[in-house]
Amino acid sequence: MKKIVLASKNLDKVKEMRLALQDLPVEILSLADFDEMPDAVEDGATFEENAIIKAKFFSEQTGLACLADDSGLEVDALNGLPGVHSARFAGWHADDHTNNQKLLDELKKICAEESKAAYRCALAFVDTDGTEILTTGKIGGKIKTVAKGSGGFGYDPYFYIDANRTMAEISPAEKNEISHRGAALRKMILKLKGRFR
Ligand code: IMP
Repeated sequence: MKKIVLASKNLDKVKEMRLALQDLPVEILSLADFDEMPDAVEDGATFEENAIIKAKFFSEQTGLACLADDSGLEVDALNGLPGVHSARFAGWHADDHTNNQKLLDELKKICAEESKAAYRCALAFVDTDGTEILTTGKIGGKIKTVAKGSGGFGYDPYFYIDANRTMAEISPAEKNEISHRGAALRKMILKLKGRFR
């Protein structure tokens, strides 16, 4: 059976992607199935560029087909930040807590209690023969400074999908149905189904 490596060290993302890919006739691996891997240098200016950089890098490292995600949050009131810097918004050793704190600090500086925002995702598949497939997804919402919910990860407790509910208050299955990553994954699955029948 064809093997595809999910080229992410983010266990939450791997979990979401595994769930979405479960019906594909392929064996899904993750970087956790390999010995310690170096990090890819994510120096692209866009989610799309970074997703391709990661998929190519880990395909070369593992010798297998790779699927990589690059995603993040764009906040209108912050002129699109944190964008491609979402994972390290609070600095090199950032985690979800410090990133969220930085987000709140930046909103406070401009006296904003909420702002329109969007999550964006680019997914890149790179096969061993060099084939590249790219798909994208987006979900619009609002960032508010009041956190709600304990599900999801990253900025989810502050990302309102409607007037009252955050992304951290819905089930993993519902998140896959509406999220940026879910949308990009569905487009990718259609393309991969044609490839791996
Ligand atoms: P990447 O691993 O370089 O793509 O960084 C993605 C970062 O964007 C994550 O570390 C989160 O901070 C943020 N992010 C991406 N997708 C989501 C999501 O679904 N929920 C919350 N935060 C997300």
